[in-house]
Amino acid sequence: MVEPKMSQPLSSSVGDYLKAVWGLAGPGVAAPKYLSSRLSVSSASVSEMLRRLQELGLVEYERYRGASLTEEGRAEALRLVRRHRLIETFLLEHLGYPWEEVHEEAERLEHAVSDNFTERVAQLLGHPDRDPHGAPIPGADGTLAREDSRPLSGASVGDRVRILRVGREDTPALTHLQDRGLVPGRVLRVEEVRGLDGVVTVEDEDGVSHALGGVLAASVLVRGL
Ligand SMILES: [Zn+2]
Repeated sequence: MVEPKMSQPLSSSVGDYLKAVWGLAGPGVAAPKYLSSRLSVSSASVSEMLRRLQELGLVEYERYRGASLTEEGRAEALRLVRRHRLIETFLLEHLGYPWEEVHEEAERLEHAVSDNFTERVAQLLGHPDRDPHGAPIPGADGTLAREDSRPLSGASVGDRVRILRVGREDTPALTHLQDRGLVPGRVLRVEEVRGLDGVVTVEDEDGVSHALGGVLAASVLVRGL
């Protein structure tokens, strides 16, 4: 990873850190060890960068506890999240990218495009409020809709639910879910929630059963019907 220079305060690396703090903790405190594993960088790099972000007024940083976003940091994180999610939607809807490939490409493109480009994409797409994974797209004014969802892993037997969002962006998980039609919008009935290992078995609208491991079930966010 290229370390940013102070003369380039909002380099792509700064943006990646802000998005990571926001993604891990929202308004809370992101612990350095989670940032380090999320961004695949050493803990020394994390603490150095968090000190810089603090100097830039983008985070509040306490050495062992971690970092939380300032108002300015949060605004910048949401601006990048908006850009990322709009690009993902554009790639899927207009360039024919498969669901599981849009994230990686958006990660690259989001560092290259301007806000003007982002807003033109938003206009072309008709100002969508969700990305292809079902994640809410922050507004141009930095607002983010509240999400009324819960993990499938917390559902009970007999529940009828609709998939609202998939909280994973890695290709194997997305391919697995896509192959089974377990994508946002799909309605499921919970057949079994196994206490032993958290495996959740659901039946889809075509009567086909699918068993999801506990970790995967925790990343599928649903709303009760
Ligand atoms: Zn993404």
